[in-house]
Amino acid sequence: MDEKKENKMRYIFCFLVFIASYPLQGNECLDKLVAGNKRFAKGNIVRQELVAAQYPSCAIVACSDSRVAPELIFDQDLGELFVVRLAGNVASKEAIESLDFAVNVLNVDIIVVLGHENCGAVRAVMDHKGDKELGEIAKSIENGVRKSPSLEKAIEANVQAQMRTIGNCPELKTQISEGEVTLVGGVYHMQTGLVTFLENE
Ligand SMILES: [Zn+2]
Repeated sequence: MDEKKENKMRYIFCFLVFIASYPLQGNECLDKLVAGNKRFAKGNIVRQELVAAQYPSCAIVACSDSRVAPELIFDQDLGELFVVRLAGNVASKEAIESLDFAVNVLNVDIIVVLGHENCGAVRAVMDHKGDKELGEIAKSIENGVRKSPSLEKAIEANVQAQMRTIGNCPELKTQISEGEVTLVGGVYHMQTGLVTFLENE
């Protein structure tokens, strides 16, 4: 086989491998989810006690980052935490609607805004050079972190900024200012697994 033909065959082979592996990756992920769900359905008994209603004790606003699952970090079972997750742990309008439900319908009396070490959403805002317009999540982060000297400080500043948004929203302002609902900020550290709770401003 001449070199040209060999290269062509190699190209076709690589293309076929790519096509064949692409849907397989998706299926492998789904297979993992199906198997995991079966294990869960068999092993978890708490869920049966929660069929009719939920009584979470705490609401958490966390980042969507796969390493920052609040139920795992705080070692809590099903039904304990009312979790709102968006990249950058932003308190968007929709996040606040969810917190409103948690506080005013489910009677949750503590809200934790949880940032985390090495947050990609905060880093993306800090690295942004102004060459293209920021998305809505980035805009929610930008104001709070503009003057931060480091990523670490920006992550804390973002937690505090999101806390201010929650503390000033009409749906929750009274309960928070009168102390019926406690608003707390924290940062999860991946190296240690520990959450540092921030001083109130
Ligand atoms: Zn993050």
